[in-house]
Amino acid sequence: MNHELKYLSIAEGTSVDGPGLRTSIYFAGCSHHCEGCHNPQSWDINNGKPVTIDELLAVIRYNEFPVTFTGGDPFFQVEGVTQLALRIKQELNYNIWCYTGYLWEQLLNHPEFMPLLHTIDVLVDGPFILAQRDLSLLFRGSRNQRIIDVQQSLKTKAIVPARW
Ligand code: SF4
Repeated sequence: MNHELKYLSIAEGTSVDGPGLRTSIYFAGCSHHCEGCHNPQSWDINNGKPVTIDELLAVIRYNEFPVTFTGGDPFFQVEGVTQLALRIKQELNYNIWCYTGYLWEQLLNHPEFMPLLHTIDVLVDGPFILAQRDLSLLFRGSRNQRIIDVQQSLKTKAIVPARW
């Protein structure tokens, strides 16, 4: 199936959304509405432009970089984002990082989120909290956010910090 997704932009070769140079996809739609959000225009999914999974895969394949899903909250369009993640793994086997405003513990209570969790490598979790903002942090905006090794955490049923 070739789902259509809504996205805001694609950064090809960025170094701020995970280690190394990456293709970062900024998906539209977010229900968390954090105070001080870096990207409030991303909240309304209608601000996004339509794109198919095939079109996104073509960009990812062309750049040959690992991938980051961000936004917005990629879990807002979880069905299509899961299909994209599965195809990235099946066809390219690239590393995938994903940002979300949900806490890890909240995601585990949503069965519809599990297929995406089972496909990605690293999750940066939690809302942006203005009072905990720290510009010195690598790959995250506020101190409450955690960088999680998803597959090890699922396996051990405890949060395992990601290493890279
Ligand atoms: S989760 Fe991210 S995109 Fe959504 S409101 Fe919070 S900071 Fe903004």
